Amino acid sequence: MSAKKVIVIGAGFAGLSAACCLARKGFDVTILEKKNETGGRGRKTEADGFMFDMGPSWYWMPEVFEKFFNRFGKSAADYYSLKRLSPSYRVFFKEASPLTPLRGRGEQSSSQSVLDIPAEKEKLFALFESLEKGSSKKLQQFLDEAAYKYEKGVNEFVYKPSLSLLEFADVSLLLSLFRLNMFSSFSNYIRRYFSHPKLLQLLEFPVLFLGAKPENTPALYSMMNYADMVLGTWYPDGGMYKIAEAMTKLAEELGVKILTGENVEKINVENGKVKSVVSNRKEIFADTIISGADYNFTEQKLLEEQYRTYSADYWESRVMSPSALIFYLGVNKKVDNLLHHNLFFDADFSVHATEIYDKPQWPSHPLFYVCCPSKTDAVVAPEGMENLFVLIPVAVGLEDNDATRDKYFEMVMTRLENRTGQRIREHIVYKKAYAHRDFISDYNSFKGNAYGLANTLMQTAVLKPRIKSKKVKNLYFTGQLTVPGPGVPPSIISGQVVAELIEKELR
Ligand SMILES: Cc1cc2nc3c(=O)[nH]c(=O)nc-3n(C[C@H](O)[C@H](O)[C@H](O)COP(=O)(O)OP(=O)(O)OC[C@H]3O[C@@H](n4cnc5c(N)ncnc54)[C@H](O)[C@@H]3O)c2cc1C
Repeated sequence: MSAKKVIVIGAGFAGLSAACCLARKGFDVTILEKKNETGGRGRKTEADGFMFDMGPSWYWMPEVFEKFFNRFGKSAADYYSLKRLSPSYRVFFKEASPLTPLRGRGEQSSSQSVLDIPAEKEKLFALFESLEKGSSKKLQQFLDEAAYKYEKGVNEFVYKPSLSLLEFADVSLLLSLFRLNMFSSFSNYIRRYFSHPKLLQLLEFPVLFLGAKPENTPALYSMMNYADMVLGTWYPDGGMYKIAEAMTKLAEELGVKILTGENVEKINVENGKVKSVVSNRKEIFADTIISGADYNFTEQKLLEEQYRTYSADYWESRVMSPSALIFYLGVNKKVDNLLHHNLFFDADFSVHATEIYDKPQWPSHPLFYVCCPSKTDAVVAPEGMENLFVLIPVAVGLEDNDATRDKYFEMVMTRLENRTGQRIREHIVYKKAYAHRDFISDYNSFKGNAYGLANTLMQTAVLKPRIKSKKVKNLYFTGQLTVPGPGVPPSIISGQVVAELIEKELR
């Protein structure tokens, strides 16, 4: 009997992961990717000797990557070499004098308006204690609880397809829901342990990754603080793109056919089953289809209305994670006072969060993030130069034009120059801006979202868009808009989950 044919739409992390898992099980897998390269949001762009990662820059939860490669008898080390960053990252807080020169790695400025977050546990505890007396003991309790949540959450919950509540009906899992703090808010939860504003901001930062206001995020997600503070921040030499490159190589080794420049324009359904997909080049027939492309786009644009599980109104009512305005900058000198990862928290988080979620608008005084990978990796910029990636989280669905981009460029450059104490603008030799309209044209992203759906309680597990269509028998979904959620590790897991479901249903 010939192998069952599977078509995967999209070569992002989720599509690549699903393709690898199914190819290993003997399926005949073809990926159709609209761009000319793989990786989706984890692609790279190269210009004038600079190599920029276009999307993800934080390598967290390294064991998720390792477990993925282990499934195929491989290790991440077979494809790239990882290093743990130490300090993990630098945070610029408010109330600083305009110029806060730093004396060296790991040292804090006298006013503590700039903090380096140590990778070592003892130093981290000492930092907490220096800001709030007694907080190091509380940090231990907090991290013990977070470790339990991480263990349960990442090893049990996220690997479930979440098609039915019955999957969670196991008594120990049900009981654990309470210890996991599914029903209390992250914001209230951390305030039970800590009160210093800087510690609170530090702990709320990973929630930015999950894209929801801390008050609307279940306290379950303190497991992300465990990922941050205990498991650490890592970096693959050569850039985050190494992950997509590795997964692409693995897929090819497993016999997956990857066709790039194939823009899927229609999914043909007959008798409640997908018969074929039509790309800009051809019609392709298959037994099973997985869409790793944007879920909303797949349903609303590729399927006829009667085959959609969700209506346009459903999508309008979803809380989306933010979009982002990004600047990729090549600088022809070394930039002082930055680490690899730098968070500019010198603005009011609650005002910015309101401007993202409650009253969507371009932010008045945004928080922003600067990645400077050339601090730890020589290959991402020419010698003596610096590679800067500046990201401002912004609401989805905003009007995105050049004048607005220019305005925010000037705003963040002024703050960056003031806080690091040097001129940077006139040293920029490469500049590319990226925001909503690029997310839409590159990835068919719903409202130009960068990170998919927000992880609110009402959008968790069974309440997320389903991994399997209700209307079309052999149509499945994967990626950041379905379970388990946004981020590179969850997207890789999403691919594994859909592959296991298909294998179970088809064998
Ligand atoms: C700026 C930014 C920063 C981020 N930072 C981090 C971080 O530091 N750490 C982290 O863990 N996560 C981060 N994330 C989130 C993470 O990158 C994503 O959650 C993840 O990459 C999503 O993968 P995916 O496979 O679901 O989707 P995608 O990467 O969007 O892949 C979908 C693929 O489908 C293709 N496609 C779309 N339509 C079609 C079509 N019609 N036909 C064929 N192909 C199609 C697209 O071209 C794309 O390749 C970041 C994301 C962004 C945007």
